[in-house]
Amino acid sequence: MFQPESIRGDFPILGLSVNSHPLIYLDNAATTQMPEPVLATYCEQHRLYEANVHRGIHRLSQLSTKRMEEARVKVQRFLNARYPEEIIFTSGTTAGINLVAESFGRAFLHPGDEIIVTNMEHHSNLVPWQETCRRHEAALKIWTMEANGSLDVNRLASMLSSKTKMVAVCGVSNVIGALNPLDDIVKLAHAAGAFVLVDAAQAIRHGRTNVQELFCDFLVFSGHKIMGPTGTGVLYGRRDILEKLPPVVFGGGMVDRVTETSASFESLPFKFEAGTPNIAGIIALGEALEYVQRLGIGACEHERNLIRYLEQEMREIPEVELVGSPRFRVGVLSFNLQGFSAFDTAALLDKLGIAVRSGHHCAQPALRHFGLEGAVRVSPAFYNTQEEMEAFLDGLRRVIPLLKGTKT
Ligand code: PMP
Repeated sequence: MFQPESIRGDFPILGLSVNSHPLIYLDNAATTQMPEPVLATYCEQHRLYEANVHRGIHRLSQLSTKRMEEARVKVQRFLNARYPEEIIFTSGTTAGINLVAESFGRAFLHPGDEIIVTNMEHHSNLVPWQETCRRHEAALKIWTMEANGSLDVNRLASMLSSKTKMVAVCGVSNVIGALNPLDDIVKLAHAAGAFVLVDAAQAIRHGRTNVQELFCDFLVFSGHKIMGPTGTGVLYGRRDILEKLPPVVFGGGMVDRVTETSASFESLPFKFEAGTPNIAGIIALGEALEYVQRLGIGACEHERNLIRYLEQEMREIPEVELVGSPRFRVGVLSFNLQGFSAFDTAALLDKLGIAVRSGHHCAQPALRHFGLEGAVRVSPAFYNTQEEMEAFLDGLRRVIPLLKGTKT
């Protein structure tokens, strides 16, 4: 069985005190912490190998290039992608989705076409599609979740038609933790002739991702949500499709031959990687994925147990109103304390050293589906312990009378 205590030492930040309490970090859906091997790899790149990639014949540039391309292969293996050139490095999920929305729109969208997204999406998987649809006079169709926050694929089936060009959906909701039926979604969308983009920003950390088995067309995630550095991300795309998409960002590194008036472009993956990439971050991301792989699926199971335990216990606290109750929940649990603002709840928890997120979680339509403008979100990771869950529940019980006190 996975023991979080055995790896907590890898995460120096978990030893911090906050407001004179030991830090209990439960905001992992926003950003995870980096373990020592990832921090060391990041620093090592700057200390010993700093040089630009794909540009020089000198030794450091060669070494940097090799290390970055090795990271691409690590990502390929992690996702079980068929080819390394299907891995495009980006600055994060948001950048990856914008890239696809822009490029896909130019290549494939015509007036009257349709794109389907759900109403549980993060704004990053909604607004780029709104913009693309507007520019190409396509229609954005919203697949609404059920009352409990689950997605019913029958609804999707009834929305799909020959006009549908893309279904863009998250693997796991960042507000309610719904684990979505991606296999069914991909099969249905493909049967209708539509492409599928999976926003795996949350899903990437909650189980094995196998893009060949899933057979999605695009999948995006951010390094900082899976123990890697901020400013790194991955866009996976099936090679045959990426080859048909035009680049949308232009500059150094992505061109082949350039004249004063025209340019031809590099092949995959470089045509989508204009400018100097986040070299140290990418190499550290490769290390992060290997770290997570070494921990194995036991780490994911441990995390699921923590969420299950929290949900059970929080249902017993009368003031707690949980947001949604999807059939399968992983990673996050959102709630409000009856009558009190999410901001105040999170601020009081912070006084106890407990880090949780409050607000609309960049998913305003998702919260409005539940009649809310904001919520508190708790999101454990594999390094969190059962004792920390108890301390969080205890903190919550202490915060309730304080909030009630401020109201009278
Ligand atoms: N999609 C989902 C489901 C997310 O949870 C997030 C981050 N909260 C994003 C997209 C955006 O990720 P980033 O800010 O790293 O680009």
